[in-house]
Amino acid sequence: NELPHPDFRCGFVALAGRPNVGKSTLLNALIGFRLSIVSPRPQTTRHRILGIATSEAGQILYVDTPGLHRGAKRAMNRSLNRAVRSAISEVELAAQVIEAGRWTDEDEALYEALAEQKIPRLLVINKVDLSKDKTALLPFVAELTGKHHFESVHYVSALKRKGLDALTSDILARLPVRAPVFGEDEITDRSERFLAAEMVREQLMLRLDEELPYATTVEIEQFKDRPDGLAEIHAVIWVEREGQKAIVIGQGGAQLKAIGTSARRHMERMFDRKVFLRLWVKVREGWVDDEAMLKQFGYTD
Ligand code: GDP
Ligand code: MG
Repeated sequence: NELPHPDFRCGFVALAGRPNVGKSTLLNALIGFRLSIVSPRPQTTRHRILGIATSEAGQILYVDTPGLHRGAKRAMNRSLNRAVRSAISEVELAAQVIEAGRWTDEDEALYEALAEQKIPRLLVINKVDLSKDKTALLPFVAELTGKHHFESVHYVSALKRKGLDALTSDILARLPVRAPVFGEDEITDRSERFLAAEMVREQLMLRLDEELPYATTVEIEQFKDRPDGLAEIHAVIWVEREGQKAIVIGQGGAQLKAIGTSARRHMERMFDRKVFLRLWVKVREGWVDDEAMLKQFGYTD
């Protein structure tokens, strides 16, 4: 690839932070596309998601990561932690995302992991729309930056898309001069098959209660483009126990139908064509604790 102009920048930037601080919302806002799934629940993101933002000035390759989990006991959480560590090791820059006014032990642990790997860090304070008085944040930030080294500090609202232009230009200025890695129209390196599974999983995170979403995963058994232009997608929702299956299906199949309808709408928007989606719910006992099954379900990165 050739440089589009002599000062074109390109590089990988991790969006790192504890679960639920708004990394995926920020990724979507930064690339201007609803790529990474978002819900009010922690641990919605289970995979490393690459989001590509190309402009005249350069190409930023954002890596959305699952949050780091402390004391991860279940195999899936350990696998998520591995995904975060490996994602961090490959970037030139990290945006450490925190929530306005909060710095927890998990934030501290992540900071140390980044500092240890000598990854330059920007502090991104998200959800500033929630604090009425912005000046109240100043002592908090002063104390934090007194003890920790960040290249710069940004106040943003991923939800209201505030502060993102300044963040983007700061990031670009810190990336190396380099030719783009991806085409200018590309948004991610993930397949439609992968994204289809994420669309179904997003609905599970949004619609199921308490611990149930964490007992589910989605496997795409078939993704076929039919001659009539429809994408025919068959997906299996795996649960851990028989009782959970009944809840996912719901009274007279109502819950499963709602999950399917919303997921299909999102897929049609994302894939830019009509989708015929079929869903099944199946039981695979103990999959969350089983390394081999996690591999089968795609939790290997
Ligand atoms: P992640 O776990 O760090 O990826 O966080 P998500 O992007 O999934 O967001 C977690 C929750 O925080 C969701 O309910 C988001 O709508 C919410 N959220 C994200 N960014 C903002 C923000 O700037 N302001 C407010 N008020 N909420 C936000
Ligand atoms: Mg996320």
